[in-house]
Amino acid sequence: MLKLRQSEFSPGILAFGLSLALTLTQPLLAKSDSRIACPPYESIEQEIVQLAEEFPDWVDHIRYGSSNEGRELHLLRLAKKGLASAPGAVRQAVYIDGVIHGNEYLHIEDRLPRYFLENRETLPQLKTFLDQGGVVYMVPIFNPDGYAAHQRGNANGKDLNRDFPLLIKNHQGLHEIETQDFVAYLEEDLRRDNRKLALSMNYHCCDGSLLEPWSVNGFELPPTDLAAHQVIGELVRKILGTEYRVGKTSDILATTHAGTAKDYFYEHHHALAFTFEGLRASEDRNFSKHVQLWERIFAVLNHPQP
Ligand SMILES: [Zn+2]
Repeated sequence: MLKLRQSEFSPGILAFGLSLALTLTQPLLAKSDSRIACPPYESIEQEIVQLAEEFPDWVDHIRYGSSNEGRELHLLRLAKKGLASAPGAVRQAVYIDGVIHGNEYLHIEDRLPRYFLENRETLPQLKTFLDQGGVVYMVPIFNPDGYAAHQRGNANGKDLNRDFPLLIKNHQGLHEIETQDFVAYLEEDLRRDNRKLALSMNYHCCDGSLLEPWSVNGFELPPTDLAAHQVIGELVRKILGTEYRVGKTSDILATTHAGTAKDYFYEHHHALAFTFEGLRASEDRNFSKHVQLWERIFAVLNHPQP
């Protein structure tokens, strides 16, 4: 009969086991976690519902689908309602999201909606953008199942930022429900309203950089497009700091991936398209700088260069 000896449970062995476990798990956490405390998804949903109730004349709350595990997918659509537009006039749209990678929450993407709504009359460039018929789409949490599980992928373990179509690589994408539902909603809304997606920003963690198209090798932006992206890149470095690197994803991250949201928005909409990679454990303290950045971005969109 096998008997466990007392010595197998000695404090020394337990301590060794504990330290081994920490050694094995800590590098994984360090690589994958933004280390910014995240509220339950339900709290973020409640805030979205609350905003729609507080600002019914300014924001629509769209439940554009459900995740694999049945969580609702939420989008806020900020616009000045009831504006008459000239027939055939094209109006601009901006798209902002966060947490397509479930463990990369920055606590910037979920605060911008309330800040924009509460300050829409006193932020001059946002006000002008809305007065001119602009719309701001905001999805604070793109991947709620990943967010709830503190993991990068969705409930199927799939990376949603590889699941957007990319024609230049013959990459079909749209295998996952979260991406399918989002693209279906956005494309229809833009088409129905005759809107041009002018700029997109996907918030991620934790490289400390602003990434421009392309995420794949072998393609360069035309000089005019590159220059237009660099204008925003310079604003990031001026407002957030020169420690943030700016450039093509494939150069900055030294990896290449087909199917990123950014490449989709650039290829399909010819938008200025960015990934913002926040700083681990501290980007949430830069919220006021992000607000400044957005005012400057709206200024660029309000005064397009010929
Ligand atoms: Zn990411």
